[in-house]
Amino acid sequence: MALVVQKYGGSSVGSTDRLMAVARRLIRAKERGDQVVAVVSAMGDVTDELLDKARAISADPPEREMDMLLATGEQVTIALLAMAIDTLGHQAISFTGAQAGIVSDAVHTKARIQEVRADRMMEALDAGRIVIVAGFQGLTPDGEITTLGRGGSDTTAVAVAAGLGADVCEIYTDVDGVFTADPRVEPLARKIDTISYEEMLEMAATGARVLQLRSVEFARNHNVVIHVRSSFNDREGTIVKEADETMEQAIISGVTHDTSEAKVTVRDVPDRPGVAAEVFGRLADANVNVDMIIQNVSEAGTTDISFTTPKDDLVRAIKAVGEVVADLGAREWSVDESIAKVSLVGAGMKTHPGVAALMFRSLADAGVNLDMISTSAIRISCVIAADQVDTAVRTLHKAFGLDERSVIAETAPAAPGA
Ligand code: ASP
Ligand code: MG
Repeated sequence: MALVVQKYGGSSVGSTDRLMAVARRLIRAKERGDQVVAVVSAMGDVTDELLDKARAISADPPEREMDMLLATGEQVTIALLAMAIDTLGHQAISFTGAQAGIVSDAVHTKARIQEVRADRMMEALDAGRIVIVAGFQGLTPDGEITTLGRGGSDTTAVAVAAGLGADVCEIYTDVDGVFTADPRVEPLARKIDTISYEEMLEMAATGARVLQLRSVEFARNHNVVIHVRSSFNDREGTIVKEADETMEQAIISGVTHDTSEAKVTVRDVPDRPGVAAEVFGRLADANVNVDMIIQNVSEAGTTDISFTTPKDDLVRAIKAVGEVVADLGAREWSVDESIAKVSLVGAGMKTHPGVAALMFRSLADAGVNLDMISTSAIRISCVIAADQVDTAVRTLHKAFGLDERSVIAETAPAAPGA
């Protein structure tokens, strides 16, 4: 008997018909003799609709109340799914995050799971029930409802799998797995069979929307094997696990893109020690996530600092930056919302020179201008104009031979120092 956690995302539970299909799938797993836990998202676009309603009332709603609102989405799904299983003649029980024992910290709208107290889920499983857990939500030790950030049901699923010692964590979605690029942008993108945590972390961090970044961190830290697959068919998807020799040895695993960030520039900041610490300290205090940072060469004692931040954090970022400009005597700040980030991810980068050179050359030949560049050991990201993002993705996918699993060492021009 195995213990399986199956997570179903918004599109997989987007209608009552889809909920019935999910109920049947869970029952099939149960009838194979497994213990089954389902973690579910809000139906379809419900979370977005709730966000729209909140924004129609306030530009900057209190975050505690935001969590109170958003947590309702998943609660609808768990109740309906439990009813669906009941009508099919099987036993299920739904739990909110709190009831499932998901304990989180108190950072509203981006809470982190601290602990899973799995006893209640365990008892229900031992009683032969299919357990249905609301994704994306937790309870603080003080009894406050929290949510885990967009896509947070993935993290709930992985945490529940870790907490129960599950054999596998299946993430069901509307695509067949993790792809070498977003198939909506690059029709030649192919499904990746296996990918390491390390690469998946970079892909998730740079815009591969299939898994929430935190869920991959959690899986790596607790060694939970994730199987990302489609809820619309029975095909094998993508396995995310610790790197080993049996994995595909492509130099580049994928191209990702992200249009959810904006660029903020602060002009003529005094160039002296402590200024960057002050700017980014204020942003951190305002709970603003910062991604790329660039500081220009200093001229006449002042410098420009640019950074990218999620558009969702922009209202808070602008408020913090406005205060910094006033306090430090900087000249002004500006925002550019029409940017995109395109990234190349691959563990083979560590050992193969020439990847950056080929990336920049290919983008240049396609007429794409690079605004900012950042790298990690296994990733290179460029900020470009938003309207060039599709061109950039397709150009890189082709240049690195991702559609036919080729080895770039054979095609890359000799490029020292990249
Ligand atoms: N419903 C939440 C969202 O849309 C959580 C999730 O689906 O994972 O982000
Ligand atoms: Mg999702």
